[in-house]
Amino acid sequence: MRVFKMEKGNLVPFLRSLEEFGEVWGPVKKGNSFVYAHEDPEKFDLSAIRTLIPAKKFFLPKVATILKFKNGAWTDNRECKKRVIFGLHPCDLHALNIYHEFYTRIYEDPYYTSNREATLIIGLSCLPDDNCFCNLTDTSTIEEGFDLFFTELDDKFLVWVGSPRGDEVLAKRKDMVEDITQNDIKEYIEWRKKREKMFKVDLSFTGLPEIVSASYDSDIWDKMGAACLSCGTCTMVCPSCTCFDVEDEYDIRNDELNRKRKWYSCFFREYSMVAGGHNFREARAERLRLWYTHKLVGFMSEYGEPACVGCGRCVVSCPVGINVLSVVRALTGEKNDAFWAKTEVKQL
Ligand code: SF4
Ligand code: SF4
Repeated sequence: MRVFKMEKGNLVPFLRSLEEFGEVWGPVKKGNSFVYAHEDPEKFDLSAIRTLIPAKKFFLPKVATILKFKNGAWTDNRECKKRVIFGLHPCDLHALNIYHEFYTRIYEDPYYTSNREATLIIGLSCLPDDNCFCNLTDTSTIEEGFDLFFTELDDKFLVWVGSPRGDEVLAKRKDMVEDITQNDIKEYIEWRKKREKMFKVDLSFTGLPEIVSASYDSDIWDKMGAACLSCGTCTMVCPSCTCFDVEDEYDIRNDELNRKRKWYSCFFREYSMVAGGHNFREARAERLRLWYTHKLVGFMSEYGEPACVGCGRCVVSCPVGINVLSVVRALTGEKNDAFWAKTEVKQL
């Protein structure tokens, strides 16, 4: 992989120049969170840890009309915008790679692939906060799945080239980058060591698939299911969740039918309901267990890695404190999370 360096002052002009490829999106502060926005790159916040909604929204929008039916014929309604997405962290890129596998390996989803081909992906390094645990899920560094990746050091960026397209982008902007020196490599190694020490979550993910499988009948699912609101937030914010629903909406005024694809959640009651009204996962506990066994066991046996990249979004988003960490702690016999503290109090 080729690597160059870029002066910090060149970043904004560099990103601005990419508008010739497509809309340039990056992380900006919104309230207490970060979101991706199409703004002038000067406004991008390089300290953003995790955006509220992950980058999957660019490849499979929350709601999209995929087909239209009018005058007896279907038409493809693929809307594909050329974009540059800047600021994806290693965990986000791992999640996108999971997305890519899911939507291309067995059946290619043309809506996903056309969006992916239209997007230039530029990653950015990060320093973890208290809820990051990508070091435990082996997703704290990234080697593929991006066009360019920027590592922010004290006074410069190292720019890693991850694709022929990324190479072309830099070749056209040669005056903005320079070759790296041995000293830059030393600085990078020091930065890696500093970052590694910043991770705070103290938990082991070793042997987790076996532990989750063996805990199929554990009462923790009932306890957590009793607290779960079935709101689906965890699945919406999770960068590797792929579920969607398809609905036909008839527009009576124009005599037109719109087939829509919408994000959906396995936490919703209707998710496992079949014709005739039978529901295979009526209880919230059953739906909760489904998500965690899918993430930590099922995905592992199908794709060789868990579908959790340690981004911490479920940790900061679940209104009742159910997340990968509280579940893993419960399954491994630890009950020191805020969620468990609340539950014990309620039981008294
Ligand atoms: S399960 Fe939670 S921590 Fe893991 S990838 Fe999904 S949102 Fe991030
Ligand atoms: S686990 Fe939390 S975020 Fe997920 S559905 Fe239940 S209450 Fe909502």
